[in-house]
Amino acid sequence: MSDWEWTEHALDLKLGRVASAVIGGDALYLVRHRDLATWRVEGDRAVPWHEPVDAETRVQLDERNLQVAFDDDGVLFALLIDGSTWRRERGGELVSMTAPDVRLAGHYAHRTGFVWDPRGRRVVVVGGDHRNDGYTIDPSTRVVVPLAHGPGHGPGQTVGTAHGVFRMTGEELWLLQGDAWALVGKHDQVRRDRGVLLYWDPQADAVFFVSQPRTHREGAVRVQMTTMGPTEPLALPGSFAGPLEAHEAVAQIDPRTGRLWQIDSLGARYLELDDLGLSKGSPLVVMVQPRRVVEHPPMHWYREALALRQRDEEAPDLGIPVRDGWVLAATMPNSPHLPVGDAGSVLLFSRELPYEYDPWTLSYSNAFEVRIVDAVYPTTAGGMLVEQMKFVEADPVFADRIDTAWDGSTHLARSSKIGGFPALVAGTREEAANSLVADLTCEDCDARLRFVAQLAWPEWDLISARVYIYACPFGHSGAAKAQNV
Ligand SMILES: [Zn+2]
Repeated sequence: MSDWEWTEHALDLKLGRVASAVIGGDALYLVRHRDLATWRVEGDRAVPWHEPVDAETRVQLDERNLQVAFDDDGVLFALLIDGSTWRRERGGELVSMTAPDVRLAGHYAHRTGFVWDPRGRRVVVVGGDHRNDGYTIDPSTRVVVPLAHGPGHGPGQTVGTAHGVFRMTGEELWLLQGDAWALVGKHDQVRRDRGVLLYWDPQADAVFFVSQPRTHREGAVRVQMTTMGPTEPLALPGSFAGPLEAHEAVAQIDPRTGRLWQIDSLGARYLELDDLGLSKGSPLVVMVQPRRVVEHPPMHWYREALALRQRDEEAPDLGIPVRDGWVLAATMPNSPHLPVGDAGSVLLFSRELPYEYDPWTLSYSNAFEVRIVDAVYPTTAGGMLVEQMKFVEADPVFADRIDTAWDGSTHLARSSKIGGFPALVAGTREEAANSLVADLTCEDCDARLRFVAQLAWPEWDLISARVYIYACPFGHSGAAKAQNV
């Protein structure tokens, strides 16, 4: 094993900033999200499979909120940010399969399950950052059918196999066959820092995952989920840091050659699957466990929030003075969801050119300013009027004990809103509490500033960032933090 290493091999393709590597049938496909250009790996070469889509279609694609899957014949399926699904035969156009659907919308690339289920001959959509709902779409009926709940909340990994669809979240491996999920495996190698990559090798009929700590002291390991339980971790050569980060690299099996490819902007390399020491057989036996999920969660597990959507209607001139080089980015009137004392409105200003972007902290410095005023204004964002929709959001601490409702509320929670929780909160009670209270104190009364609202792309289209607004509970002052997404 001492000579076990990655073999460098140029595949001669440009996958762009965000890409996917997906098995369809017995072939490996590589997809550039920007324009859906696709290659099929044939031995040592990547052969063009789908041409880039036309410019008109391309503008509808948001490469970061795009999922792709392939059926056994190389037909591409895509899920776009608006929850619409599409299909594309080789040599054909991208054609609509199902219309925009709030239940399927807002899935961030690589964090959700969007796979072809060869056994059920259907597309399966399941889970995501803050959700555990699932759906199937039969391409012939083109109907979105909700699934009963199964795997837990949170980012997970999903693979379509001859047995059905496996999904792993946290320590649990679940299998979807027909309409029912079943727990079929558990392991004790949960990683919260980077997560894991889940694979199915059709040749060996082997389900395994790769994980790697963020610290550089330890390298990547693979653990196989067998019919006898999880194996001991096996150390792998090199690093999987790229594919474990959101968009730096892709890594997937080519079933035909038995290689595990890793492809990034520097090139491509592979490991021989034979060297991974996989045994034959996927775990299919149902494990019985008491259900953690609470049937009727108490109301205090939720916070009320208002989802904000830009209307197709320009805001009237509000007569609010704006300094040179700045623009009025948003106005939010006081409401029970925006607890800032007796003040009338929270105003957010941004620099006209907010690109003082700091790549080290992924943030924009001095690009935003919050002002709290007595006057009441209509809700606006980016110069457009805004409509508000009420919803409730589960406390992140209890999220994995609540089944996500089929009302699209998790999608509402991800983007622009007043109240609720900051989008990226997860973890312990302390972490959730800390994210609701900023490190900043009020300029007037020393109260800690509290989270009141979040504005997010694409509803608010100034920059590709999520802006968190914090305000003094007594309405004196506020502050904003931005995060690149
Ligand atoms: Zn104050």
